[in-house]
Amino acid sequence: MSLQPDCIFCKIIKGEIPSQKILENEKVLAFRDLHPQAKEHILVIPKFHITSVAHLEKSEMAVMEDLYRATLEIADKMGFRNTGFRTVVNTGQEGGQTVFHLHMHILAGSQVGPRFG
Ligand code: 5GP
Ligand code: ZN
Repeated sequence: MSLQPDCIFCKIIKGEIPSQKILENEKVLAFRDLHPQAKEHILVIPKFHITSVAHLEKSEMAVMEDLYRATLEIADKMGFRNTGFRTVVNTGQEGGQTVFHLHMHILAGSQVGPRFG
């Protein structure tokens, strides 16, 4: 359970890179994506460094629950729980992941684009 010095999202957790925070608790941090792909585009990350979903040990699966709990809290707070939203977790190079610290995208606030890709 530690942070990695050269990881962008670990730097955001430490406050070394500024971010527009939406929600923070002891397990996760949520902040606005720098290049929004929808009216609301939020990233939710665990507050320790883990590269991707593919790197989760069986004993660490609760991380995904933490991310979804935060997602629903944000959906309630921002008012899109009923109108709908999309969650996306890109994994690895062929899964389109570009920042290698596990994160969940939340896209909402308007009709989100194509179903995949
Ligand atoms: P991925 O492609 O790995 O699923 O998503 C990485 C996301 O992180 C991208 O949507 C990108 O816009 C976002 N991102 C990259 N660097 C930063 C940053 O420094 N701050 C914020 N807020 N978002 C970032
Ligand atoms: Zn990290």
